[in-house]
Amino acid sequence: MIIVMQPDAGDAAIAAVEAKIRSYGLDVHISRGSERTLIGAVGDERKLDPAMFDPMPGVEMSMHVVKPYKLVAREWHKANTVVNAGGVPIGGPTVQVIAGPCSVETPAQMEAAAAGVAAAGARLMRGGAFKPRTSPYAFQGKGVDGLRLLKDAAAGQRLPVVTELMDVRMLDRFIEHGVDVIQIGTRNMQNFDLLKAVGQVTTPVILKRGMSATVSEWLMAAEYIAAGGNHNIIFCERGIRTFETAYRNVLDVTAIPVLKKETHLPVIVDPSHAGGKAWMVPALSLAAVAAGADGLLIEIHPSPKDAWCDADQALTPAEFKALMGQIKAVAAAVGRDT
Ligand code: PEP
Ligand code: MN
Repeated sequence: MIIVMQPDAGDAAIAAVEAKIRSYGLDVHISRGSERTLIGAVGDERKLDPAMFDPMPGVEMSMHVVKPYKLVAREWHKANTVVNAGGVPIGGPTVQVIAGPCSVETPAQMEAAAAGVAAAGARLMRGGAFKPRTSPYAFQGKGVDGLRLLKDAAAGQRLPVVTELMDVRMLDRFIEHGVDVIQIGTRNMQNFDLLKAVGQVTTPVILKRGMSATVSEWLMAAEYIAAGGNHNIIFCERGIRTFETAYRNVLDVTAIPVLKKETHLPVIVDPSHAGGKAWMVPALSLAAVAAGADGLLIEIHPSPKDAWCDADQALTPAEFKALMGQIKAVAAAVGRDT
């Protein structure tokens, strides 16, 4: 951290800053220029924050010189990390596609969905058993019964499963039911107790971006999981809120290369919750793969118009299969396979 002093800062102000830095166990390097003094904190500056220094007398501004995240940063781990998601590698040369309905409904719906996922060549199945709904009167998900239905349907096609964990009290049930990948949804990206809890297990975690979260906040949320010991983290861009109202969210394609630069962990994209309409899903999927995404999370339903949740954005199995062909072509164009 560097603390820039005001031109008229006296020796007492400089000494106070120096004492504060030393009180956190760091060394101090003082550079006295003709106009102003710069004070450098030498050591693990993650213990320090600009808010500790900015209000002090004589301080003009202070700033970090290294990133506040470490375990997830490419700065500290150059090679791409490949996460083993129930036997499926995410983050390697293959663009992996996860597909399935927004929510688990019935055994018949799940079996048809699983058949559609497998027939199109996708390698993992999704399905929400616990649904974060805006209205408390809307369908909230089938709960633990839904976990069972999801596992059974996916097992019939030998697919590992991805499902959302909303409540820390359900984590043990997720493990008992053999959930292969835990999804943390957009609304819980900064639920720090939930992040700490999934940091204590080894199950891979898909960390969706908070709908109003900056890239840096998102990386720090992942750092919470990694700090607990679970480094099996997959970032998922799912669209952010902006002034635009013509679609559900804005898919932040820019975040893909930025994140790939900042972190060694895989980055996938959910085009379904970004656009919010089935017809937008192909274009957004292809844009994501072209921009370097390591995978996609796509909502499909055997009969979209009858879906209990997010009916407007689900692809039919046939539409999904056609899209998988296009994904393959774009992946090949950027040196990846599917
Ligand atoms: C979902 O994937 O079903 C979901 C609720 O996503 P998000 O958290 O991105 O809204
Ligand atoms: Mn959904």
